[in-house]
Amino acid sequence: MKKIDILIIGAGISGATLAERYASAGKKVLVIEKRDHIAGNCYDEYDENGILVSKYGAHLFHTNDEEVWKYVNRFSEWYPWEHRVIARVDDKTVPIPVNIRTVNILFDQNLETEEEMQTWLAENRIPFERAKNGEEAVLNRVGPVLYEKMFKHYTKKQWDKFPEELHASVLERIPVRYNHDDRYFSDRYQALPKGGYTQMFEKMLDHPNITVLLNTDYFDIKDQLEDFGKLFYTGPVDRFFEFKDRMPEKLEYRSINFVTEHLDQEYFQENSVVNYPGQDVDFTRIVEYKHFGNQKSPKTSIVKEYTVDEGEPYYPVPNEKNQRIYKEYKKHADQLKDIYFVGRLANYKYFNMDQAFKNALDLFATLETEKCEDHEKLTVL
Ligand code: UDP
Repeated sequence: MKKIDILIIGAGISGATLAERYASAGKKVLVIEKRDHIAGNCYDEYDENGILVSKYGAHLFHTNDEEVWKYVNRFSEWYPWEHRVIARVDDKTVPIPVNIRTVNILFDQNLETEEEMQTWLAENRIPFERAKNGEEAVLNRVGPVLYEKMFKHYTKKQWDKFPEELHASVLERIPVRYNHDDRYFSDRYQALPKGGYTQMFEKMLDHPNITVLLNTDYFDIKDQLEDFGKLFYTGPVDRFFEFKDRMPEKLEYRSINFVTEHLDQEYFQENSVVNYPGQDVDFTRIVEYKHFGNQKSPKTSIVKEYTVDEGEPYYPVPNEKNQRIYKEYKKHADQLKDIYFVGRLANYKYFNMDQAFKNALDLFATLETEKCEDHEKLTVL
């Protein structure tokens, strides 16, 4: 086989970004993808009800990063979309993140101002100067009653661990609002790509210098692919080393079992995502995709998410034990010449989408700044 400039394993955010950057810089790029489609977990398609659905769960783009925002705008038009989530708790429906309305509904209060909310929280929260784990993080913010109702069991269902067994950062992803703001995120840019993510990835990879090989497990053809300039690996880091001796134990990942129902009714629920934080059901949330972009169809499709141990790895499990194991793998990874580990699974980090774009762009910039004329153009776009 002839020499490949850039070999990329995985056609998700990290892989597609690096492929696009290197191809634009004149390099020949080969992308190897195990699945039968590009776009990684962002993959979306139209279903039998004509609704654009994401195969691997809803992907809500949000960022404060100008460079990332400009970058993604090169490959798609985007429409503003402020994501909102509601939760069914004690037969009531409340906003999440917790805000004034959440407290009023659950505790029959009449709070109106930020000061009143602050006072309520001060009376209920258990302060921790530095939360050591997810439980302390939530108790510190909202106290034990909301912890029990909205966070403890959702987290157990999601991670098969209670919050005290997870890094504080996992639960700190969800803020507390002292006002009526019911948006899930507060970033400056919150939007969805017109036409969907798959179409956007097609555009990213549509370059004469890029070849994409689908349905191909890199580890099956690895020996035929030893002549490359640089290799970027975006799969699970422990999988990369599984054929070597004396490696650390395997890392833990969580996967999701998506159970779809096509319904002969216009709507199933009043919002795109409804969380079920209680123990009464096994799923964590129900997503009704037609709400995204207010899609029209006489029917609807809903997806219940059950988080499970086995299956495609989606989430690294952030706790101390896994971080320790990951560091061992990282030592091995750092010793490899011209091989780079990029993205959520290869870095074992709970990246948001914009962080995944950012990391890939930064890596490219670090490796190629001097060589690539296009970089300057990109950063001033
Ligand atoms: N979480 C919770 N209750 C909720 C929503 C989230 O306890 O109703 C916790 C849970 O541990 C979850 C974490 O907050 O894993 C982060 O939530 P996020 O919505 O960011 O998770 P993702 O959308 O990435 O699955």
